[in-house]
Amino acid sequence: MDIQSTDKQYIANTYARFPINIVSGKGSVVTDENGKEYIDLATGIAVNTFGVADDEWIKAVEKQLETVQHTSNLYYSAPCATLAEILCKKTGMKKVFFSNSGAEANECAIKAARKYAQDKKGEKFSTIVTLKNSFHGRTLTTLAATGQEVFHKDFTPLTPGFVYATANAIEEIEAIIATYNCAAIMIEVVQGEGGVNPLDKEFVKDIADIAKRHDILLICDEVQIGNGRSGKLYGYMNYDIMPDIVTTAKGLGGGLPLGATLLGEKVKDVFTPGSHGSTFGGNPVACAGAISIINRLNDELLKGVNERSEYIKTQLENADGIKSISGMGLMLGIETEKDASKVISECIDNGVLVIKAKEKVRLLPALNIPMPQLEKAIEVLKNACK
Ligand SMILES: *Cc1c(COP(=O)(O)O)cnc(C)c1O
Repeated sequence: MDIQSTDKQYIANTYARFPINIVSGKGSVVTDENGKEYIDLATGIAVNTFGVADDEWIKAVEKQLETVQHTSNLYYSAPCATLAEILCKKTGMKKVFFSNSGAEANECAIKAARKYAQDKKGEKFSTIVTLKNSFHGRTLTTLAATGQEVFHKDFTPLTPGFVYATANAIEEIEAIIATYNCAAIMIEVVQGEGGVNPLDKEFVKDIADIAKRHDILLICDEVQIGNGRSGKLYGYMNYDIMPDIVTTAKGLGGGLPLGATLLGEKVKDVFTPGSHGSTFGGNPVACAGAISIINRLNDELLKGVNERSEYIKTQLENADGIKSISGMGLMLGIETEKDASKVISECIDNGVLVIKAKEKVRLLPALNIPMPQLEKAIEVLKNACK
């Protein structure tokens, strides 16, 4: 059976896949159907936090799988409650709503923000401010939140009530707040899909101040930068702020679908039975896996993330064919002289998986990638950039 032609015939035409069929792997090495090995600096888009077939994660998932695979949210379930407790204790947030994806985590955040504002200030307070060049998901509401025209066209009308400000332009945020009845400001502290661009420290602090002053909620979308990738547990922790809502997904589950919306003090009780829900959300197998991930994101592990990040930056700064490096921790964007797509396919040919973010080459390695593998992969990348 030819997988590529079957896929092309039967899978909806939404993905431009690389011509690789990954069949197995261990840690940061994956293997295709022909037995060719690749060092994986993409981790399924920041999902496989500890790489492929991680022993601890497998053990946790298997144990739960053999116990009970699903209960629904009509009943109590230990993995779900335990994971929520860990997330709250590690962040200072108060309650968690679990879902299955980043988009759903953001949908929940938007619902929570609107309900908080409307309960407190009245029905008109519904506007959510997001940033141009942001990415918040593919559902119609999270598309509306996404400040990029290219994603909107062909799918209008989108959910109303979203207004976009330019990143790092605090005066635009102020003008919007003066004009609209705002419920929340939603940001990614490092814009991932938008090209791996960290927001300025000043700007983020100013947003947090303005939000607090006006009792507008601050939502941090940590779907990609969260769960250790920034070098701290969550990206916002690099900015000295305390958001009202934190959303995450991707790396949280370590490979199983899991989204989480962390609700802070102001919004912890905004939902009531029936006001939101999910059939699969908080699935015990996904949560058991996530517990094994989040419990390992300790200071020592995060130190390793920062050391690997420094290594990559030192190696690539001033390397031939590289114009600039952006990002934080192990979420890095590389501006290359050659077309990024060319660099990526040359890396693939030479056994290294990297992906794109806008016009940059994006690196999202496993947080525990062994140094020898990282060194080898960076050498391949450097050669591809020349
Ligand atoms: C990937 C991503 C999303 C969407 O997550 P899905 O799981 O694909 O729905 C939302 N926000 C950010 C910042 C992302 O990187």
